[in-house]
Amino acid sequence: MPLPNLQRVRTWVLRTAVAAVVVVTVGSAALVWLWRDRPSLADIDWPPYPPAESVPGAVAVTWFGVTTLLFDDGETQLLIDGFFSRPSLADVLLRRPVDSDATTINFVLDHYRMRRLAAIIPVHSHYDHAMDVGAIANRTSASILGSETTANIARGAGVPEDQIVVVEDGSEYRFGRFTVTMLRSSHAPIGWGGSVPYAGTIDAPLEMPSPVSAWREGGSYTIVVAHPSGTTVVQGSAGLGSKALRDVRADVVMLGIGLIEGLGRRYAEQYWHSVVTTTAAKHVFVLHFDDFTRPFGEIAPYPRVLENVVDVAAWLQEFRDTWDRDTRLHLPVFGKRVVLYPLAPAAT
Ligand SMILES: [Zn+2]
Repeated sequence: MPLPNLQRVRTWVLRTAVAAVVVVTVGSAALVWLWRDRPSLADIDWPPYPPAESVPGAVAVTWFGVTTLLFDDGETQLLIDGFFSRPSLADVLLRRPVDSDATTINFVLDHYRMRRLAAIIPVHSHYDHAMDVGAIANRTSASILGSETTANIARGAGVPEDQIVVVEDGSEYRFGRFTVTMLRSSHAPIGWGGSVPYAGTIDAPLEMPSPVSAWREGGSYTIVVAHPSGTTVVQGSAGLGSKALRDVRADVVMLGIGLIEGLGRRYAEQYWHSVVTTTAAKHVFVLHFDDFTRPFGEIAPYPRVLENVVDVAAWLQEFRDTWDRDTRLHLPVFGKRVVLYPLAPAAT
């Protein structure tokens, strides 16, 4: 009897379709909810960095999200990382080709007066650190320091070869009164099975637009930014700090904590030791806790499902209370200029 069979098939198809719609709807709603469920930075009650008068020659720093930092002593400016363009979540998930956003970059360079930029130094070559280094160098004539992979990002953007410096591990580079030392370290093992996401190198000039996956890690650095008035260590990714930090005494540490919660408390404590305890820094700014798919200028912590920055902050306080009682923890404020070392260096 063909008719009842056909009826049964129709009913089955209808039920399956309804079930599929329900699963997709509920699943999408759950994903949206998980993405929007975020901790509040207001629950971290660390004090602001001690305010200081900006005397001539004092070194100030300004944070622009993730680990992009502008150092400025009034004569010379250094930019750690170059990431202003902020591809959207859809760009990242769909792997759409992305390009530097000229409008945002022009605005930032003008608004924050980056007219004395001597060097752009990404901590490694993932897009959330190095995407815009070429576009910035082309507008400022600053040098770009980094790995061969970073150099190929610069070349792809058409940066002249004499502005590109492939660094050697442990070498020092002078810019005005700043001395920058690049120490090879490691990226946080935050990929599947302890791997590094988008690992590997870029071996030819990187043409843009390209999907974000085209920016490969290319080697990570602990960057020591020394100045006659003080020293800051920048650790962008939460890979263990370079062993060479044993010979460095720092006033300030810029500590990247991106996705460190998933690596566990033990790992985080080891990380703290390798960068903070080792250098005896008295002030620690925590960085790389913000969702970098948000537009430039918007600071929102990662969704709880990726990392709860409030829990990580509690860990760091425990490490500080156990090992480094005199150290102060701080959260940076987007775009706010902070005088790090108020004393002007003696004229040389
Ligand atoms: Zn990275």
